[in-house]
Amino acid sequence: MIWDVKNETMPAAQLKELQSERLRAIIKKVYDKVPFYKAKMDEADVKPSDIRDISDLSKLPFTTKDEMRDVYPYGLLTVDLKDIVEIHTSSGTTGKPVVGAYTQGDIGLWSEIMARTLSMGGVTEKDVVQNAYGYGLFTGGLGAHYGIRRVGAACLPISGGNTKRQLEMMQDFGTTVLCCTPSYALYIAEAGREAGIDFRMLGLEKGFFGAEPWSENMRREIEARLHIKAYDIFGLTEIIGPGVAAECELQNMLHVFEDHFFPEIIDPATGNPVPDGQKGELVFTTLTKEGTPVIRYRTRDITFLTREPCSCGRTSVRMHRLLGRTDDMLIIRGVNVYPSQVEQVLIKAEGVEPHYQILVEKRDKMDCLEVDVEMTDELFREMPDDMKYRRKPKELEIEHALHNTLLVHCKVTLVAPKSIPRSEGKAKRIIDKRSI
Ligand code: ADP
Ligand code: ZN
Repeated sequence: MIWDVKNETMPAAQLKELQSERLRAIIKKVYDKVPFYKAKMDEADVKPSDIRDISDLSKLPFTTKDEMRDVYPYGLLTVDLKDIVEIHTSSGTTGKPVVGAYTQGDIGLWSEIMARTLSMGGVTEKDVVQNAYGYGLFTGGLGAHYGIRRVGAACLPISGGNTKRQLEMMQDFGTTVLCCTPSYALYIAEAGREAGIDFRMLGLEKGFFGAEPWSENMRREIEARLHIKAYDIFGLTEIIGPGVAAECELQNMLHVFEDHFFPEIIDPATGNPVPDGQKGELVFTTLTKEGTPVIRYRTRDITFLTREPCSCGRTSVRMHRLLGRTDDMLIIRGVNVYPSQVEQVLIKAEGVEPHYQILVEKRDKMDCLEVDVEMTDELFREMPDDMKYRRKPKELEIEHALHNTLLVHCKVTLVAPKSIPRSEGKAKRIIDKRSI
């Protein structure tokens, strides 16, 4: 179902007109109200009057995460604090968190785009939506909450964690839709299977998963285990939280809500724009956000865009599911390795579960890459005890497959079922001891 027919199916020329008009207004506003942006524009020698349409965007300087942290907490506010009604921050694991401050209008906008997201996967007022994204400063919980409310579905605001209770709610309340991180969805599936729950017997039909990287194979896995259709949803605190882009029922790349968030792809090394279809770093400009608008924010996320029409009828540009991050990319003995490549290989391997951890360390000045991955219960049970803690033929097999994909050697260890810590939010899959 298309939630907002006018804006989601707008012809390209009209959309460009709307984006240009919105860009002019936002640039004028940030120039007048935010010393941070004025200083940057002055330094780049661009005036608001130089920005006439959306193609002038490339004249403007980028904004980085570090710069946003430097003006923590209120340095990006475009309105008075009295007009702010809610504040969120990113997790801030690598420094001061990034702050998103929302006006009443921004909450309205967030509700609309999350309603679009859910409608894309067919959620209606008849659904019962279990929202297992964490509530709190993290944008996932409340962002999804506002969308569920806007659609008019019944929201179960359970938040993340307490998996037993999640399963109980699903059974007792007839949950039809699940929202959480993909790794938590798998954890719920696993816990359900252990509790003897047959997901086919539940009302669960679909899930909206995001906030962390996952692969196409991981999607198939979740769909098969929970007997649902799983949609990829994307967003980030700096831009608004979830609701920046999402998949439609065709599950073929994510429609970007570009009437509000204008995407560009750049070469991360040079900052130059790259053409559609070519991979690069995703950059966003918020066109309508009031509290903390951001101009050309470098997400460090890697993807590509396509403007080919989608048969759902929506006209927006689509982005491929994330292919990695400029900063998560591991460089192992000079070779670029993306954790998503490792996941792709592991999910295809038989006898292992999609629970893994990647470990990088230096040994004798050499980078060493290791992957711990859990065996399936069956494999573990059938294995003679004296094999369990020795090198196994399957480990060599997976090492070989990983080498073919990554082009660098990686030691694989099959570990006992349930020995890798589970996550109720974003999974921590990489431990890079080199930087400690
Ligand atoms: P933090 O993790 O610092 O609290 P956010 O929650 O805003 O900050 O995280 C945003 C980041 O999460 C994105 O830049 C992206 O890397 C990742 N992310 C969000 N949604 C997805 C998704 N559907 N697929 C892959 N990665 C995602
Ligand atoms: Zn579509």
